[in-house]
Amino acid sequence: MSPVTTTTAPTTAAASGGTVDPALVDAARAALTEEVGPGNAGDVGRHLGQVAESEDGTVSSQLFACERAGYVGWHWSVTVVHLADGPVTVDEVVLIPGDAAIVAPPWVPYRDRIRPGDLSPGDLLPVSDEDPRLVPTYAFGDDPLDPDAKAQIRQVAKDLGLGRVRTLGPVGHDLAAQRWYAGPGGPGAPIAQSAPDHCHSCGFLVRLAGSLAESFGVCGNGDANDDGRVVSMDHGCGAHSEVRLAKKHEPQPVPEPVWDTLTPDEIELF
Ligand code: SF4
Repeated sequence: MSPVTTTTAPTTAAASGGTVDPALVDAARAALTEEVGPGNAGDVGRHLGQVAESEDGTVSSQLFACERAGYVGWHWSVTVVHLADGPVTVDEVVLIPGDAAIVAPPWVPYRDRIRPGDLSPGDLLPVSDEDPRLVPTYAFGDDPLDPDAKAQIRQVAKDLGLGRVRTLGPVGHDLAAQRWYAGPGGPGAPIAQSAPDHCHSCGFLVRLAGSLAESFGVCGNGDANDDGRVVSMDHGCGAHSEVRLAKKHEPQPVPEPVWDTLTPDEIELF
């Protein structure tokens, strides 16, 4: 008999129909009880149903509730085979999570799990040779969306063998633009929603070169939250260079002191 194992197969405890043969249930329960050990017979609960595993009905999985502590929502599955006029044999005994079971989340590869800000000093994050965001510079130029740059850089790469090996391709440009636009430097950021004006008219906006320059720049205002960050042209904040305070917001003059300690007192002459 195979040992008790677990599997993440999405089988539920629902029966698949068909007539339940009490002899199969008894054989499955006996095998399961033997598998969990005589001291753990309480781990095996009531019979929940069966799942047909073969079209001719000779192979089925008998399902039992799991009463083992810590396995809420799991159930036992005992696969049995019963050929005509033959004895009932047991294929395997497994513990299977049901819909309500607490299971580990699906595994996500490290490369897909990493998020901006996860890198620490000294960490390396190699980029795949097949990364669709990058294209060979010798073929596309330094800025694939700028035809002039394309021609110039191609020439340089050809003549001197200089230039970057790869550069951001159209896919990479689109992804970056979407990310920046939807991020804290885009028009949807709370600070931009209540801004008096947009970055495109702000004197602190440092313009980018290349195809993304139409939509994005870098904030160069050391007093602004976005200083040093990419901002979209329709982003904005209250530190816009042309912001002026309304009269009512200007500092009010200080009232006359009640007790003047600043002006020299006149000396009384006798
Ligand atoms: S100071 Fe504000 S409005 Fe000006 S560029 Fe920076 S984020 Fe945009």
